[in-house]
Amino acid sequence: HCVNACPCGALRYTSEKGKVFRALHDPSKTVVAFVAPAVRAIIATRYGISPEAATPFIAGLLKQLGFDKVFDNAFAADLTIMEETTEFLDRVTGQGVMPQFTSCCPGWVNFVERRYPEIIPHLSTCKSPQMMMGATIKNHFAQMAGLARQDLYVVSIVPCIAKKYEAKRPEFATDGIPDVDAVLNSVEMLEMMDLKLIDPADVVPQEYDEPYRMVSGAGILFGNSGGVAEAALRMAVEKLSGVPLADHLDFTEIRGFDGVKETTIEANGVKVRVAVISGLHNAEPIIQKVARGEEIGYDLIEIMACPGGCISGAGHPVPEKIDSLEKREQVLIDIDMSSKIRKSQDNPDIMKLYQEFYGQPNSQLAHELLHTHYYQVEGDTLGAKVLKKSDSAFLT
Ligand code: SF4
Repeated sequence: HCVNACPCGALRYTSEKGKVFRALHDPSKTVVAFVAPAVRAIIATRYGISPEAATPFIAGLLKQLGFDKVFDNAFAADLTIMEETTEFLDRVTGQGVMPQFTSCCPGWVNFVERRYPEIIPHLSTCKSPQMMMGATIKNHFAQMAGLARQDLYVVSIVPCIAKKYEAKRPEFATDGIPDVDAVLNSVEMLEMMDLKLIDPADVVPQEYDEPYRMVSGAGILFGNSGGVAEAALRMAVEKLSGVPLADHLDFTEIRGFDGVKETTIEANGVKVRVAVISGLHNAEPIIQKVARGEEIGYDLIEIMACPGGCISGAGHPVPEKIDSLEKREQVLIDIDMSSKIRKSQDNPDIMKLYQEFYGQPNSQLAHELLHTHYYQVEGDTLGAKVLKKSDSAFLT
């Protein structure tokens, strides 16, 4: 019965390896993969390769599996920061609904829609990076490559099981064709590698493909709890002060595995109070206060359903050692530290995408393709009757 106790739908999932293999063997399809930031942390720790080598290893592995194009979803994390921070600054300066909660974790979004729909106006309207990337590929890339939507088969590779449900939401499809056709978790990707008898030693590292090749260290941090808030602060401080942020890029106080972390920044007379929460049980006291209309002392709140963020996602292999999760976190921190681009707004491929396609953050086209709306849902993702808020066992 535990599958019915999970508000994220994260305890049972349908493997999608078979349908991805069929697409890879269908000559009428151009098959595109994009890979979430946290997946490289698993590859580095599993195969003992350096953090910097893990990213090209995954691109090489997916090309060997037969994917035509491989993109990095840290690119869509950068895109999320452009949209979500712009939305946040608009709310702060324009008297919008405050505080703003992040919306990039579908486990958290599922929880709000089923348990606390009254706080929906506080959720950012941004789609998750997965759905931003799907919409961008099925519209911008399809146009660039001269491909019809139905001839593009888009596969997301993630640490997450809630993202399988998210990709099937009807609002993320146009004329019945979904933006993301299949979602593989990292365990499924490794199983495909085994089924094709690919020896890790034979994988030839490759670069990710244009036009979404360049990613920032801030986008990579999305895999860790605190990473979304840290990336947003790197942009918010710069926008509020009007001065390029050259140092103090590291907001170490909101990293790590504590259930609730916080920081405050001040720029140009504006104070931004940030909370970072991972593990839904840690979020509930704050949600209840927001639902009652009480002041909570925060302006921006990042919430990730998994303790420690996506590096702990249920779609990853089970951690082998007691310190495995800390090692996964460090992989992403090391990649950020060694990145030439460490702020989402400095990513040249992001700037090009806005110049050539979206115009500017929160433009009409960006709203159409990169934002969404949420609604109250009866029952959980498996169709079971939702439990009552008074059932505290539900949250343990
Ligand atoms: Fe998925 Fe967990 Fe990451 Fe949320 S925190 S997006 S549920 S892996």
